[in-house]
Amino acid sequence: MHRKKKIIILSHCILNQNSVVHPLARAKGAYTAIIEKILQEEIGIIQLPCPELLHLGENRPPMTKKEYDTPEFRRLCKTLLQNTMMQIQEYQRNGYEILGILGINESPTCSLLEERGVLMEEFESALSNAKIKLPLLGVPADYLEGEAHENFFTTLYAFLGN
Ligand code: SF4
Repeated sequence: MHRKKKIIILSHCILNQNSVVHPLARAKGAYTAIIEKILQEEIGIIQLPCPELLHLGENRPPMTKKEYDTPEFRRLCKTLLQNTMMQIQEYQRNGYEILGILGINESPTCSLLEERGVLMEEFESALSNAKIKLPLLGVPADYLEGEAHENFFTTLYAFLGN
């Protein structure tokens, strides 16, 4: 089968809301409307790890970026990103297009707004060391599965190349 050779990188919880801090889940399983759009466009997915889940567990409390910003947590993020970096570089070597990274706005770990989350800071640093620059987009902080979010979806469609 002919491959489209297009891939998007997603924050872990876009595909799995079970990983988020308890009061903050915004869908029952995944951000289905976002995933459906990506699948309809026949775009492949690389799922980033969820460092908060691995660091403090499923039952962790909500915390700020300042609280997460410890050498130990940064080390974990760096280590977890090695696998993702290897995948990106292998796909790029073989002519695949990495469309960009879809993060989670205002997350202490996965935000791609001006104030980046800890994982995204480490990710950008690893990408920059590898001389890779990728487009960035974030799921809005008020995203709730089942609601329209027209502006966000218009931006997402453009991000996916429509
Ligand atoms: S750390 Fe990132 S992937 Fe994990 S729940 Fe928070 S925003 Fe989602």
